[in-house]
Amino acid sequence: MEEERKKCLICNKFLRKLTKTDDWDSRVYHITCWRTLIMDIKHYDKIAYTKYGCKRVIDGKTLEEHKASSEPWVVNFD
Ligand SMILES: [Zn+2]
Repeated sequence: MEEERKKCLICNKFLRKLTKTDDWDSRVYHITCWRTLIMDIKHYDKIAYTKYGCKRVIDGKTLEEHKASSEPWVVNFD
């Protein structure tokens, strides 16, 4: 019978089944990956754009799209 192979939802590598514990069925992360994620959340506002590749979206476009566009920025003061 083939063992079920699960992938970590954070790093996308296979989880190693070192010991079969009760929480195996619900486990979807490496413990180390999970801990790293928790640490990252604390300073997520700083690393979101660098580490996780989040894009700043301004007026429906990313910053890169704004730079590539020749349209001037229009700032409205309401
Ligand atoms: Zn992982």
